[in-house]
Amino acid sequence: MELKQQFKLTQWLLLLGLLSFARIEAATPEFDAEHAFQYLVRQCEFGPRNPGSNGHENAKKYLISELKRYSKEVVTQEFEYTDKQKSLKLTNIMARFGKKDGEKILLAAHWDTRPFAEHDPNPEKRNTPIIGANDGASGVAVLLEIARTLKSKPPENEIFIVFFDGEDYGKHTSEMFLGSRYFAGNMERWKPDYGILLDMVGDKELDLPIEQFSLRAAPELTQRVWQTAKDLGLDAFHPQLGPAIMDDHVSLIEAGVPCIDIIDFDYPYWHTTEDTPDKCSAESLGTLGKLILALIY
Ligand SMILES: [Zn+2]
Repeated sequence: MELKQQFKLTQWLLLLGLLSFARIEAATPEFDAEHAFQYLVRQCEFGPRNPGSNGHENAKKYLISELKRYSKEVVTQEFEYTDKQKSLKLTNIMARFGKKDGEKILLAAHWDTRPFAEHDPNPEKRNTPIIGANDGASGVAVLLEIARTLKSKPPENEIFIVFFDGEDYGKHTSEMFLGSRYFAGNMERWKPDYGILLDMVGDKELDLPIEQFSLRAAPELTQRVWQTAKDLGLDAFHPQLGPAIMDDHVSLIEAGVPCIDIIDFDYPYWHTTEDTPDKCSAESLGTLGKLILALIY
């Protein structure tokens, strides 16, 4: 008797679950991958975007004005970083979307690019700044397109899109992740419940295993993301454990925010002058876009 009732209850719950799943499916907007790819190309057209360069200054203005088209609340965090020789002006760019009482989700990517191509096959190019189509522009491109979608269909939760500066600046980790470290120390009302970082997500041959610091710091979120990818049939996501990668998510984890890094570290053009748009694809950006929209809606 008791068992039977439980069975019926389970059936009802299953039915309710299916209905709400169907509702969520129908409510999730489309992600325009081609438009996202245009955002990748546009950033690369500014040239290298390492701190102190013209490309950096011009890209900053562009990203701020683009976000302002989609969000009423766009702010910057400006700060200085002084290394042995010079003082650099760095800027985190932040935009808010959705309802203030909802779950707070941070979506982040770094917008700066590496000042030198230390892994270039040609030794003469190893001091040349990179274009950073994948390492820089790809994550930002996905999030700009997400911003555009959030404007057309406001979410029930509160979404913070943050572009970190100074991720790829220095030779050593002490001179990297500058923007995310600054953000993590000055979050105030921008402190999210959890965060998702996108880095190097544009590779034509996209391959996304689970990054190790992410799994350790946010096992439930990691599980949810890779399970959602599986449900959506996004084959680039593999539920296997990949490498442990120091990246902007570590700054947030250290500040007590569960944060994961979705990153394809298997990229032959990493930190070379060959990290250009032709190595990336709209389809790969679309994979991330679909995933993020499914998580939000
Ligand atoms: Zn890099």
